[in-house]
Amino acid sequence: MTDIVDQATRSRMMSGIRGKNTKPEMLIRKALHARGFRYRLHAPDLPGKPDLVFPRYKAVLFVHGCFWHGHPGCKHFRLPGTRTDFWASKITANCVRDSKQQHLLIEKGWRVLVIWECATRKLQPEYAENVFNLVCGWLKSDTGSAQLDANGLSPLPCSVTESATTLKVLPPNT
Ligand SMILES: [Zn+2]
Repeated sequence: MTDIVDQATRSRMMSGIRGKNTKPEMLIRKALHARGFRYRLHAPDLPGKPDLVFPRYKAVLFVHGCFWHGHPGCKHFRLPGTRTDFWASKITANCVRDSKQQHLLIEKGWRVLVIWECATRKLQPEYAENVFNLVCGWLKSDTGSAQLDANGLSPLPCSVTESATTLKVLPPNT
């Protein structure tokens, strides 16, 4: 049972295995709190139980692990070479669910920000400053739903169909 996935894959999987209170999430929370932002955590009454909820800004924030949530085109999202079909269908299901929940939130008038884990990987002071500035700027703006990855902010692709189609290009095992 030791070699089902390689070490790198395992650590990617482990880093996303706990959905709440992950290290990147804690860093974001700490930084935003220090800047005076107040929020609710893991709101059970909202679709997808967003990691942070900012009622004042009508905004919710998710911190997503690139592996579990299938960050398209990200170098931290590669399917394992073994049981590829299993992982592909599991992650596709996660993406479709994410997308549906984001849709519901937007319908209810919330703005959604997805912060990909890859955006938080190099949180050295100068880099972190930039990440937190982007997040704070987005919160205070009236910009629509967005995602933040290592390349910065971009509009959130939040069509269920689009997510499902994107995931279909993953290499099948057969
Ligand atoms: Zn990523």
